[in-house]
Amino acid sequence: MVQSGTVILKKGKEHSIERYHPWIFSGAIQESTGSLTDGCWVEVLSYKSKRLGFGHYQKGSIMVRMLQFGPDELGEHFWENKFRQALQLRKSAGLPTEATNAFRLIHGEGDGLPGLIVDYYDGVAIVQAHDAGMHEDRHRIAEALLKALGSGLQTVYYKSHGTLPGKLRDEHHNEYLSGMSAVPHIVVEHGKKFYIDWEEGQKTGFFLDQRENRRLLGEFSAGKTVLNTFCYTGGFSVYALEAGAHVVHSVDASEKAIQLTRKNLELNGFDAEKHACYAIDTFDFLADKHHAYDVIVLDPPAFAKHRDARHQAVRGYQRLNAEAMKVIRPGGVIFTFSCSQVVDRQLFYDTIVSAAIQAGRQIKVLHHLSQPADHPVSIFHPEGEYLKGLVLFVE
Ligand code: SAH
Repeated sequence: MVQSGTVILKKGKEHSIERYHPWIFSGAIQESTGSLTDGCWVEVLSYKSKRLGFGHYQKGSIMVRMLQFGPDELGEHFWENKFRQALQLRKSAGLPTEATNAFRLIHGEGDGLPGLIVDYYDGVAIVQAHDAGMHEDRHRIAEALLKALGSGLQTVYYKSHGTLPGKLRDEHHNEYLSGMSAVPHIVVEHGKKFYIDWEEGQKTGFFLDQRENRRLLGEFSAGKTVLNTFCYTGGFSVYALEAGAHVVHSVDASEKAIQLTRKNLELNGFDAEKHACYAIDTFDFLADKHHAYDVIVLDPPAFAKHRDARHQAVRGYQRLNAEAMKVIRPGGVIFTFSCSQVVDRQLFYDTIVSAAIQAGRQIKVLHHLSQPADHPVSIFHPEGEYLKGLVLFVE
């Protein structure tokens, strides 16, 4: 890796970098030297010319995303070392195992690599770049992943068409960077099987972040009538059935997602006819389901992707939760989530309180849920915590 230039910060702006916050906003920069283009590497200096580290440069509100902090040179094995560290973290959290061979290997800032997501599906790595720097480095990333994972990795697929900024997105197509594996590919998660289709599926093909919450749902499902809304691949449905649910209904607005859910139910030995799947909007589906379910899962897509959309999103969460609270059977349980980063834990909680007031039911909080250990949050970058959930008991 060769750096193309240097960025010098204004006086006082070194403090947040010294505290390992990885973003440098345009207003923090005093001057830059060299020929800086989107995606290049830059050295970052304080106003006193002290080296603060290195990062990827990209014109915009966040100008530099830090990838290495401190005075050291950039090492030749930068990427490989980062991937080995990330593997080490997963190992310490008990991943992978025989029963779970799919996990997130790189979670952006949480793994010291802002702009990069890597999901691992038993021998296949899906690489997703969110900025120009990671895009520029994609071949180095693939090469280092192959080295760090050794015989554990056969295929690297680059899937960034939906996540790269502006012009890059239009120019770029998803592609195999190394090897090739047939889709759908089967993985196991807590012993349950799932088809993964990274080529056609949403995001990298599967929502790994709900692994532990799906397992918890199992504990509430035996003998119950369960509704899994926004089901996508049917993850929660499979866990509920495996744990002995009497019947599970799955709902998603996308016909493709419903097909996937049906296939995953069958893959795990359940009858997709008995456990019906509906391609319909959740709000419409809930409208006439008075006292039909004991357990309801609400796991909508991010209602707000930006700060400006936050108010609208909050109203969406409130309406959705109030509907579910109104229709659920007395003594029922709701698993409710928000994956909008801009709706923080407190705001989500307050929104659920408003929904409860609107629904007029007695509600108790049984669990506060979050993202699992393979989606780590740097303590210096709290913005990395995005998944919030509550388990609610409705009297
Ligand atoms: N719970 C899933 C992930 C949900 S992703 C899991 O554990 O894997 C969000 C899903 O919501 C997507 O599949 C999307 O198609 C679906 N969706 C979006 N808007 C919807 C709506 N209004 N009604 C029903 N499904 C919707």
